[in-house]
Amino acid sequence: MMTPTVAVMVWFAGLVGWYIIRHPFERKARKIGVNKSFFDRRECSLLAIALLGLFAIPAIYVLTGFPGLFDRPFVPAVAWLGGATMMTALWVFRRSHVDLGRNWSISLEVREQHVLVKTGVYRLIRHPMYSSFFLLGVAQMMLLPNWFAGLAGIAGAGILFAFRVRREEHMMLESFGDDYRAYMAHTKRIVPWVI
Ligand code: SAH
Repeated sequence: MMTPTVAVMVWFAGLVGWYIIRHPFERKARKIGVNKSFFDRRECSLLAIALLGLFAIPAIYVLTGFPGLFDRPFVPAVAWLGGATMMTALWVFRRSHVDLGRNWSISLEVREQHVLVKTGVYRLIRHPMYSSFFLLGVAQMMLLPNWFAGLAGIAGAGILFAFRVRREEHMMLESFGDDYRAYMAHTKRIVPWVI
């Protein structure tokens, strides 16, 4: 049965799954050299904002019920949909890590022997990892019956995406030139065939 407590457990299990998927890539990435880095204070702040919206604010809500002013009624069917969205987010998140492989970075970096990936989920969209952040945000909104804690995730993902994506594409264009330009011509950013 879907109750508010079960929904919170689904949300938390999703975050644990998130960490389990990412951790091995973070460990491996430490051993791979970086040729060019744009991981500056601005990028660090963007990551902090995403973390605030997708983790800190909902965690505070789950632990304390703050801010109660924005509570909304709990609808089991919506929470079920949230669970399905969480599964989809985790699947896209894992696929994007596996497909990027050794080219993965937490921020904007070009690695030694960096290869432009155009296969797997990257065949359809250029930023599946950011798509998975948005999906995680949508799952959070459906699972937590509070507008503030719920929408914080989409806001965090949106800010990260809005301020990072052009810079990232610029960096990729500088590194891969016409190859990336051609890749851009037949892919969308986060939703296949749409945006
Ligand atoms: N924006 C992508 C990747 C995020 S990880 C996504 O949402 O899926 C960020 C790193 O991935 C960047 O440092 C960049 O060097 C690398 N990257 C982004 N797109 C790539 C691609 N198509 N092939 C190889 N590396 C890529």
